[in-house]
Amino acid sequence: LSDRLGGVFDRLTKQGALSEEDVRSAMREVRVALLEADVSLPVARQFIKAVEKKATGAAVTRSVTPGQQVVKIVHDELIAVLSGEDDPGELRIDNAPAPVLMVGLQGSGKTTTTAKLAKRLKERDRKKVLMASLDVNRPAAMEQLQILGTQIGVDTLPIVKGEDPVTIAKRARTQASLGGYDVYMLDTAGRLHIDEELIQQAADVRDAVSPRETLLVVDGLTGQDAVNVATEFDEKIGVSGVVLTRMDGDGRGGAALSMRAITGKPIRFVGLGEKMDALETFEPERVAGRILGMGDIVALVEKAQQTLEAEQAERMMKRFQKGQFNMNDLKMQLEQMQKMGGMEGMMSMMPGMGKMAKQMEGAGIDDSILKQQIALVNSMTKRERANPQLLQASRKKRIAKGAGLEVSDLNKLLKMHRQMADMMKKMGKMGKGGMMKQAMK
Ligand code: GDP
Ligand code: MG
Repeated sequence: LSDRLGGVFDRLTKQGALSEEDVRSAMREVRVALLEADVSLPVARQFIKAVEKKATGAAVTRSVTPGQQVVKIVHDELIAVLSGEDDPGELRIDNAPAPVLMVGLQGSGKTTTTAKLAKRLKERDRKKVLMASLDVNRPAAMEQLQILGTQIGVDTLPIVKGEDPVTIAKRARTQASLGGYDVYMLDTAGRLHIDEELIQQAADVRDAVSPRETLLVVDGLTGQDAVNVATEFDEKIGVSGVVLTRMDGDGRGGAALSMRAITGKPIRFVGLGEKMDALETFEPERVAGRILGMGDIVALVEKAQQTLEAEQAERMMKRFQKGQFNMNDLKMQLEQMQKMGGMEGMMSMMPGMGKMAKQMEGAGIDDSILKQQIALVNSMTKRERANPQLLQASRKKRIAKGAGLEVSDLNKLLKMHRQMADMMKKMGKMGKGGMMKQAMK
């Protein structure tokens, strides 16, 4: 019986691998999806090339087609690129009053986002926030921020006609210090296109107040253009993060990938509407799903992987509970250990155990011993693997010889197997409610 189960198990663990052709044909669809999502061509190309390399040879989960498996790999890689490792998460607004500078093109959503962020800081982080409009170009711009401020209950710097942006910024700083504010947000003017004057204005303000955060607000629907804008702003002013607005629209968010890939700047927030609470922290998983537009497939593959893992674990547990820990199981454990770099590698992954593993070196199980032990199991017959207690002295000799080792080596392995089988049986009993019964006594 255990032999038959063992056979099933073997089949489950041996999965196919993705061939170059599998990957290439799936990538054609991925490429279309990326371009439809407004990912810029060079970024899409570069991304696909990198993923192709990664995906070829990767394992295919049972009950999933190679194409579906590729989609899942692409999805995971999208998340990885969108996330980055250096993402700071929340805004850095220590050392009150912390200046936050908002920059971007006209109509990108700077003023709206300034107010949304102020509201978030006030309600979520309990910060005292002051907002100031430096937009001296558009007559109604300052009033717009003032009205939003009243609406969300956040103070705005009193409007003084005729001041230049740097003067207003300095006045905001003074007011923020005197008034005990945690943060002061500076909403700058924008143009339809980047020009010298606009950049110079923002640079002057930057030099005057040294912002803790300089957030670039970009229309998420503009795709390709957004990236050029971001690159330019970052070169000239220095940007610490990006806010993508209009992510509530029809666009599929490809700008996020292009932005991240080309500028390397973290996307901090996304705007999801005109309302004051339509602002969320950037979630790579969500945006990745939107860019690829293949959420069903990703979910399917994830489900298949989970089912497979659960089945494997359950099958193994059941057998262990019955005391069926045979040589094939032992071999699997040994191979697992080998993958993790032997006993030393395994222990170095556990916090505080690295040193101990070093001391054990030589005495511990290293890669060469693992190899020997696996070789010993390999030179047993199927029946012997299932029932090692049947081994006769003559067979032991032959097995050891087959692996190029001594009988004493084989005896050590058999002893280890008995100990492990014993342990598994005990653990299995505990799992069947033994522990609960103990606790109730
Ligand atoms: P600014 O010129 O950069 O200051 O842009 P505004 O903040 O004045 O925004 C321009 C328009 O875009 C306004 O009508 C906003 O309501 C709208 N807007 C801003 N953010 C979003 C967003 O995330 N989604 C949607 N749908 N509209 C937005
Ligand atoms: Mg504005």
